[in-house]
Amino acid sequence: MSAMDIDRLREHKGVIAGALGIGAAGLAAYFLYRRRSSKRVRSNGRFAGHAVPEGAYDVVIVGSGPSGATAAFYLAKNGAKVALLDKETFPRDKYCGDAVCTPALNILEDMGVLKELVDNNEAHFADSGGFVSPSGLAYIGQSQEKLGGAAACAVKRTNLDKRIAWKARDTGADLQEGFEVGKENPVLDREKGLWTVHSSEGKQVKGRMLVIADGATSRLAMQMGYCTEAPKGVCSRAFIEGGTHNVDFDGVCFYQRESLPGYSAIFRHPNDELNFCYYLIPCGKDGMCGDVSEADLKRLHEGALKSDPFISKAIGPKAKIERMRAAALRLGSQGVPQSYDDHLIIVGDAAGHIDPLTGEGIHTAIMGGKAAAETILEMRAAGDFSAASTSVYQQRWMQLFGHDFAYSKKGAELIYKYPILLDACANEMARVGDKMMVRWAEVMTNMRPKTYFLRPDVALPLGFALLREFWAQKVSGRPDKYKTGLI
Ligand SMILES: Cc1cc2nc3c(=O)[nH]c(=O)nc-3n(C[C@H](O)[C@H](O)[C@H](O)COP(=O)(O)OP(=O)(O)OC[C@H]3O[C@@H](n4cnc5c(N)ncnc54)[C@H](O)[C@@H]3O)c2cc1C
Repeated sequence: MSAMDIDRLREHKGVIAGALGIGAAGLAAYFLYRRRSSKRVRSNGRFAGHAVPEGAYDVVIVGSGPSGATAAFYLAKNGAKVALLDKETFPRDKYCGDAVCTPALNILEDMGVLKELVDNNEAHFADSGGFVSPSGLAYIGQSQEKLGGAAACAVKRTNLDKRIAWKARDTGADLQEGFEVGKENPVLDREKGLWTVHSSEGKQVKGRMLVIADGATSRLAMQMGYCTEAPKGVCSRAFIEGGTHNVDFDGVCFYQRESLPGYSAIFRHPNDELNFCYYLIPCGKDGMCGDVSEADLKRLHEGALKSDPFISKAIGPKAKIERMRAAALRLGSQGVPQSYDDHLIIVGDAAGHIDPLTGEGIHTAIMGGKAAAETILEMRAAGDFSAASTSVYQQRWMQLFGHDFAYSKKGAELIYKYPILLDACANEMARVGDKMMVRWAEVMTNMRPKTYFLRPDVALPLGFALLREFWAQKVSGRPDKYKTGLI
């Protein structure tokens, strides 16, 4: 190297020092990354599927509602060691409309739970049902004969949830009641591939997989960062004492114009008791459910019972009505973009598995719980608990019901903007009768996808019904028959 070269190097010594510094930092980052990623590979990696350490479980499930308890049942039935934790003691109440749709009934039958509900007179299979459209067209028909069974069944949640939880327990799951998973987050030891889950009273359980099934407000999914928003929907419930009302149908939905795309509904229980609920479905501006918000729920709920012409007539003046109770709805995966991670799966309401058009989530909770169990059993057999494997669960629930969420959301937006679409459906039912009503029931209970309405043989007659309604409302000036006085 010549003296000139050395002088040049001296001139640029700042640049050279910087480059060397960056290089050193890069090397350090590389080795750190190698260490970290080798740890991740270990944690993502393979643990002898059937060999959990003494005292630990294959799966720890937090929440024993329909989603968690169904998962526990299928896991225990297939030989997995399961801890099923719930802060409550069963039987316990859960605010709900109690309408259990057919896809859930099929699984409950497979579990042997449906038989227990029927044997104990805890299930009422709907036959006569229908809806009242925003302009007051009412259609109530019979569905069972045409469907070859009921589209839905009313079961009080004290009974439904108790029977599923106990069935899981009797099949081998370790149901631990009064176990509230506390403020301390579950911790995953990535070397051992084991979660430690703490109760607020200092108890702890360990397990290879963690299933989060703690409902719509999911403390766990929020605290652990899997869920980023509070639920945006809400629903009320009030029981009406059997023998004090005039209702002679099994289930009717009332689409009051002022709260679209939400609605209220009455479902009948086996002992003639009724469940009245009012669903507010998120739509439009953030924080709004159409033109109303959560703050309007009490007024709408109480106003409907008092002054809605269809509801007040159906229940009569002597109805003994429980005070309103309400709980959150997390619809269409709201705020939970990913329902899986290494050693972890999120099910039911905690994952936002409620249909964004109907607000129904019992059947999706049960279907999702079963899909979670199937995925975990496969993972256990393969000894692979990585996110790559748990992602199969998300594919499964998307295939089962998640694919419909986007269409349901669109459906909710459409009926909010164009209530006449619901009038057209009622108009078509009045023309063709129960044949159309059962198709409607099938779509609303997830037996058929929402895209069914786009099939030419369905869309075309509905298109003509829309024209008839348009003519009746806008040209002939047919008066609105649904004046609720709620606004
Ligand atoms: C008013 C209302 C009406 C509804 N009507 C209907 C209807 O008619 N049909 C329908 O299909 N769906 C309806 N839904 C939705 C339905 O209730 C839910 O989709 C369903 O309950 C979801 O089940 P899940 O098991 O995911 O959660 P949940 O049923 O909420 O169960 C969660 C469980 O986790 C437990 N838990 C919570 N936190 C902890 C903790 N920290 N530690 C331990 N345990 C914990 C709870 O005690 C509970 O047992 C309605 C919802 C509301 C609010």
